Amino acid sequence: MACGTLNVLMSAPPSSANDLVIARPEGLYCPPGDFYIDPWRPVDRAVITHAHSDHARTGHGHYLAHTDSAGTLRQRLGASIPLQTLPYGEVVEHQGVRVSLHPAGHVLGSAQVRLEHGGRVWVASGDYKTEADGTCPPFEPVRCDTFITESTFGLPIYRWPTQAVLFADINAWWRRNAEAGRASVLLCYAFGKAQRILHGVDASIGPIVVHGAVEPLNAVYRAAGVPLPPTHRVTDPAMDREALKRCLVLAPPSAQGTPWMKRFGADASDAFASGWMQVRGTRRRRGVDRGFVMSDHADWPGLMAAIKGTGAEHIRVTHGSVPVLVRWLTENGLDAQAFETAYGDEDGEAPAQDNAPSVRAETDPVRAEPVEAFKAFPEGPSTSSGRTDIEVEGKASQDHPAP
Ligand SMILES: [Zn+2]
Ligand SMILES: [Zn+2]
Repeated sequence: MACGTLNVLMSAPPSSANDLVIARPEGLYCPPGDFYIDPWRPVDRAVITHAHSDHARTGHGHYLAHTDSAGTLRQRLGASIPLQTLPYGEVVEHQGVRVSLHPAGHVLGSAQVRLEHGGRVWVASGDYKTEADGTCPPFEPVRCDTFITESTFGLPIYRWPTQAVLFADINAWWRRNAEAGRASVLLCYAFGKAQRILHGVDASIGPIVVHGAVEPLNAVYRAAGVPLPPTHRVTDPAMDREALKRCLVLAPPSAQGTPWMKRFGADASDAFASGWMQVRGTRRRRGVDRGFVMSDHADWPGLMAAIKGTGAEHIRVTHGSVPVLVRWLTENGLDAQAFETAYGDEDGEAPAQDNAPSVRAETDPVRAEPVEAFKAFPEGPSTSSGRTDIEVEGKASQDHPAP
């Protein structure tokens, strides 16, 4: 389910003639270069930050993406798409605009797009995550004047456990189930999250079974050199009754409640891996035994650290908690504006529409004064990200560094 409902309510900022990226009905557009970044309507030239479906769409005349996105893009959009690939850090010049891609730490091949023209530098983040997970190069801060950031989890309540804590929890749950002779079914998005779980779990606990939607993406990761433990299809003869009692099952959320799941028995334990699991009620609505707080997007401290790391004075905020983040940044001395986009949330379980009101009621991010809301968090952005100029108490930024 897409969570783009908030985004369409936002109005685009008044664009200046000097802007290197403006919001157009087709997508984010670079006027001097005459190309788009992750456009949602067909265009002649598109730079694609990563292969999630809300960012990589069919029908463009020319695609530019990171080398490691080739496998997933061709698999999802067709083998014959006109694709030009680029390694991280290498510059191509197009109509006087210097374009380069830099690690975003989100999924395999994910990239931030750096644009340089006329002495200005803009960076479009695409989706990003600041903690390294071993399945793609970690997020790299890129100095710029203007940073276009996502804000999928742009509320102070979103704070992810470290990789170590997360996988200790997942392993303990799986081990306990295996010892009790029941399967552990973990619902997760098929591209990115499933491979991150495979890479992070203790594969000595038992066999791992993956849904048919997951295995082709495992193959792309393995081909790119990312080590993943052996995976089995449920039809594999080795996956007999006894094996299934100890197995970890990775399946997309859409598999929940389908006949495919019945093979693992009525006593299988099920769980959901998502950043939304941090919100009270999401797990309950999902009807699963366990919720693991796990996202491929930056949490609040991650967003703060990333924005700080760019040194940018101008921030453009796209999909997610746009109004909250814009207000927070503005109150802390930055020039922040919203960009209207059509990006969704590939986690697939965003609390959109029917779920959104209850999420808002529980977190109440918009109605509460942001400064008050931040006060409620003892470990505020400044302490957990190393920032000193954006205080938990909301003290205005006096010394944000020049680019
Ligand atoms: Zn994504
Ligand atoms: Zn996105």
